[in-house]
Amino acid sequence: MTLRIILTTKLVTNNMNVLITGGAGFIGKALANYLAEQQHHVRVIDDLSAGEKVGLDSRVDFTRGDVRDIPKLWGLLRGVDCVYHLAARVSVPESILYPVEYNAVNVGGTVALMTAMRDAGVRRVILASSGAAYGEQPHQPVSEKAEMRPTSPYAVSKLAAEYYVQAIGALWKIESVVLRIFNAYGPHQQLPPSHAPVIPRFLKQALSGGSLVVFGNGKQSRDFVYIDDVVRALERAATIQNIDGACINIASGNDTTMTQLIDEIEALIGTRVHRLYNEEEASGVSHLGADISLAAKLLDWSPRVSLREGLGKILKLDPRFQIQRAATH
Ligand code: NAD
Repeated sequence: MTLRIILTTKLVTNNMNVLITGGAGFIGKALANYLAEQQHHVRVIDDLSAGEKVGLDSRVDFTRGDVRDIPKLWGLLRGVDCVYHLAARVSVPESILYPVEYNAVNVGGTVALMTAMRDAGVRRVILASSGAAYGEQPHQPVSEKAEMRPTSPYAVSKLAAEYYVQAIGALWKIESVVLRIFNAYGPHQQLPPSHAPVIPRFLKQALSGGSLVVFGNGKQSRDFVYIDDVVRALERAATIQNIDGACINIASGNDTTMTQLIDEIEALIGTRVHRLYNEEEASGVSHLGADISLAAKLLDWSPRVSLREGLGKILKLDPRFQIQRAATH
């Protein structure tokens, strides 16, 4: 039994050549830097529409470009063993305003990438999909077997991208692994003014001494997974064999309400914050918690960083919050 498990999970760990699309973004940059540190050869393509080059390890080979530019991809894919496909437009509210753009980048970009991979003979793609693709689910935590009920153009685009990598991957003999990442958080996460992710937004508001604005009644819940845990799962998805076609939740396995999240932030910064509930602005599904047993089984992966530890790491490692902290003490 032990022998069988070892054989089916044989690792390929030496000096991979990887291309990361969207590698200047929050998750992509953390992944690129980690893989470069592990002596893998890392190329990145990113159009810098949301990401930035600052903070990217100097060993990473960066190209500015659009993931839909097939001739540019041909050059970048030469000699590549594995592609991480992360380039995407990533905001649920923004996708409701700009569905055509979301479809063009998230779906069109995936098809263009797969076409270029076929031409270049690349063997494996790992797609960063999203827990958002599940939509509103009657049963929590959500397992990969749940019926998909996407409720936004963003969620539909991620699900369509999953279907594309799996369907044309099987046709063209490109191995595919889909990771449905839930709410990733960590240092250096982007804070766009119109659609900032909840954790950096709450931290910014809490540390600046203003009111903390909760969209909804505070009972909405999400599964927050720390960036280092996400990066470890992505690495394993490239190095473990015999998982072609798998679709795997990557999350903490803990459902956290917005109220609990604020309690954690208060405990960490040692101050009570004023909470302002804006029920009209509530968006997205009400609950999204993940069953992560398949990740343990197929990737031998489980999360290591608790929410409190992860929030503490942001305060320690992200200069934007250190400056604010100094100003409030
Ligand atoms: P991000 O916005 O920080 O990164 C996306 C990157 O893609 C950006 O650097 C952006 O400039 C780039 N990009 C956008 N359009 C492009 C195009 N046409 N060509 C080339 N590059 C382009 O977002 P992120 O949080 O790092 O997310 C990365 C991936 O993970 C996305 O596919 C997202 O859907 C998925 N994901 C993220 C989370 C999360 O909580 N952060 C959760 C689930 C899934």
